[in-house]
Amino acid sequence: MTIMTAAPKIFLTIDMEPDCPPYLNTFRGVTEGARLLLGLLEEENVKATFFVTGQIAKDYPDIIRGLITQGHEVGSHGFNHSDYTTLDRAGAQRDIELSLEILRQFGPVYSFRSPYLKFPQTYLDLLEKAGLSVDSSQAKYKPSYLQKTRSTTLRRIPASITSSVLRLPAWIRNRWLGALESPVVLFVHPWEFVDLRKENIPLDCRFKTGGAALRCLQEVIQFYKERNFQFKKMQDVLTEPCDAGSG
Ligand SMILES: [Zn+2]
Repeated sequence: MTIMTAAPKIFLTIDMEPDCPPYLNTFRGVTEGARLLLGLLEEENVKATFFVTGQIAKDYPDIIRGLITQGHEVGSHGFNHSDYTTLDRAGAQRDIELSLEILRQFGPVYSFRSPYLKFPQTYLDLLEKAGLSVDSSQAKYKPSYLQKTRSTTLRRIPASITSSVLRLPAWIRNRWLGALESPVVLFVHPWEFVDLRKENIPLDCRFKTGGAALRCLQEVIQFYKERNFQFKKMQDVLTEPCDAGSG
């Protein structure tokens, strides 16, 4: 008897937002970092999911068109990176709808990730009503992940680990990465590929930003390729329902 074991999966996701929110109000990640990141993804032949704020899609439409042309998925990261735990229900609904109204001008949108990976469970139905199918707003490393979740039609695919871990020295980072279970969900931000080391932002945001961060990400991609992980986009779970994602 042969036992078929599905190849392990990894979702590389990119949260496209203002630089290091809420500390900066610049968009160097979009205007400088994204190009470097897209070059790396092309070189490594990896397709990713970009969670983009509606505001960035409105202000930088050519960049969004470029993502789609390169075969990446575009999902929603809200309208202007508001913390949904500070919005009332009507405000949250407006923010989701406004973001989707802009993003859907570029193509279909199936997936959502809330800013700061914070999203009230009582608002999950707003995502359903907006026609979304995948939610990646949870994080396995946050205590809130252990709360009992409401039933929802959304496929929920939580982030596995926070982004700054990917910039740690390889000998530390690889121990973390090697311990993550499939499906692995990593996220980075275009602003990490811009040198923000001298900015007045928390250390975990600024250390090794710039070229070093890009080299780290390349090593991370190669780490999973060597271990035969398949790189997937969030929307792929909608056509491969058996073994990706959970709950
Ligand atoms: Zn964000």
